[in-house]
Amino acid sequence: PSITRDVTIEIPNVTWEDIGGLKDLKKKLQKAVEWPIKHSAGFSRLGISPIRGVLLHGPPGCSKTTLAKAVANASQASFFSLSGSQLYSMYVGEGEALLRNTFRRARLAAPSILFFDEADVVGTKREGRSGRNSAVEERLLSTLLTEMDGLEQSKGILVLAATNRPQAIDEALLRPGRFDLVLYVPPPDQESRLEILRVHTRSMSIGDDVNLQEIAEHTEYFTGAELKGLCSEAGYVALREDIGAKAVCGRHFQAAMRSLKPALSETEIQ
Ligand code: ATP
Repeated sequence: PSITRDVTIEIPNVTWEDIGGLKDLKKKLQKAVEWPIKHSAGFSRLGISPIRGVLLHGPPGCSKTTLAKAVANASQASFFSLSGSQLYSMYVGEGEALLRNTFRRARLAAPSILFFDEADVVGTKREGRSGRNSAVEERLLSTLLTEMDGLEQSKGILVLAATNRPQAIDEALLRPGRFDLVLYVPPPDQESRLEILRVHTRSMSIGDDVNLQEIAEHTEYFTGAELKGLCSEAGYVALREDIGAKAVCGRHFQAAMRSLKPALSETEIQ
């Protein structure tokens, strides 16, 4: 079987408008990723070399993957996605082969964005590794470093990596010319929660009595993923009450909020 089969290739249809909040972060990504891809001629004319890698870190469910897709869409770039644990779980040698192959395909399909989720699984600090699997990690990490260093000649490819554990990332990945830009993707504040709720209720039929502002106030520590879950749970509650329901109302959201608890707490956000 072809190893290329395991790579997800898609042209993401996610746009900036699908992401609530994170205004500054979107601007930073536009500048670091979208401009160099869209205006590569201008960059080479002025002799500026664009960055090759961006590391996104932050708690799960706060849109790291969605941001990577949105920036690919905005840049009109092909999107390749790989995950550290996927590579790690493959047979000896296959993980490196898939990694190399994905870089190769990204070069052929340039401009491309290569999204590398759970980057810490491959790029773990050497001292933090467990003995038994250390060799596997070492080989994957050195393949990743070689591929990233090789990006110099190939224009129009940018690696976006994501992790929930930035402190576990090997310093080798953070050296100049690799992941030059490190961005924190925070859990949403109240204003962002309101925007996220607006995004996820956009295509729902909601009653006039639904006060999204109030829901945003009462969902402290909810991540974007949990707010999305809250909206669909409210829909389930409405249908359970009446399978012919025409709209999701305030009481359905209230019931959904009572049944869901955020996974994050204050200490994890600090
Ligand atoms: P993980 O670390 O678990 O991979 P992640 O940070 O990559 O998580 P995503 O996969 O991008 O998070 O987000 C999970 C879901 O939550 C997505 O379906 C997305 O639509 C929703 N979501 C998260 N943050 C936002 C946001 N700011 N606006 C709108 N939707 C969001």
